[in-house]
Amino acid sequence: MVELHLHLTGAMAPRTCYELYLEQGIPLPKGVHSVKTMAKFLRVDPHAKDLGEVLKVFDYICKPLQKLDALRRVSYEVVKQLDDQHLEYAEIRFAPAKSCSNGLTQDQVMDAVIEGIEQGLKERPSIRIGVLLCLMRGMSEEQNRETLEIAKRRKGTIVCGLDLAGDEGKYGLKDYAHFFEEAKKEGIPFTIHAGEVDRPENLKLAMELGAKRLGHATYMVHYPELMAEAKKRKVMIECCLTSNFGTKGIPALNQHPIRKFLEAGIPVCLNTDDPTLFGTSIKREKDLAKGIYHFTEQELALMGHMAYEYRFLK
Ligand SMILES: [Zn+2]
Repeated sequence: MVELHLHLTGAMAPRTCYELYLEQGIPLPKGVHSVKTMAKFLRVDPHAKDLGEVLKVFDYICKPLQKLDALRRVSYEVVKQLDDQHLEYAEIRFAPAKSCSNGLTQDQVMDAVIEGIEQGLKERPSIRIGVLLCLMRGMSEEQNRETLEIAKRRKGTIVCGLDLAGDEGKYGLKDYAHFFEEAKKEGIPFTIHAGEVDRPENLKLAMELGAKRLGHATYMVHYPELMAEAKKRKVMIECCLTSNFGTKGIPALNQHPIRKFLEAGIPVCLNTDDPTLFGTSIKREKDLAKGIYHFTEQELALMGHMAYEYRFLK
């Protein structure tokens, strides 16, 4: 099994989050007084109105991730979590700029995350991990520039690509396009969160910029010309069934366009996005694909194979 769309911070175990809050003496969020209540707090409210509301929980998740030992621990644990699910390959993405509120530099953050991942890989040698760096919608030009520079400097290591994350409804893509033009010139592959809200211009631009994959892209199904473009360019859509319902990217869990994408000749793969927030796992996503969308084992195997072909760590 392969997973290409997984956020490090959205995969942090509730127990770890709770313990880090206590260890660092950070006041707990209202109503949280145990691992169980932390888990409940981190779970996306099924009545959340949109993506912006869902993303608010990351402010709390990132609070204890301003320290190097915490970053090492979470990265190490996530590798083990992924290996426990018998994944052969996974890409973990994160935004180093989100851990720089208390004086760390993005390079220090990166070193800690890589150390944690490498420690995990030492103990679990059968899984392969690639790391994607997320530029963030809403972050400053300087912060995103620094992230891009890190990706450039670390090219050829397990840091193998870029992403653009954050509130697409509020910020779009245009203001960040120049970073991806540069990444393309540098030969750094990238995916972009696009079409998670109804902004077709973001999907169009992401493909024009040369994104090899698109995160979510659920709204593409309403635009036949964009579907044709995705097919022509062989752009893979990273589908996250539970997440897409949680952020209102689809109106109901049984109304994901994954089948329509596949039938239109667009490569797709299954992902969790943020397993802790959405209470899911890659196995659960596969079960949903089988149960709701009637994917056969053969089709699922083919999707896994395609995902592997579209990985950024070669
Ligand atoms: Zn995502």
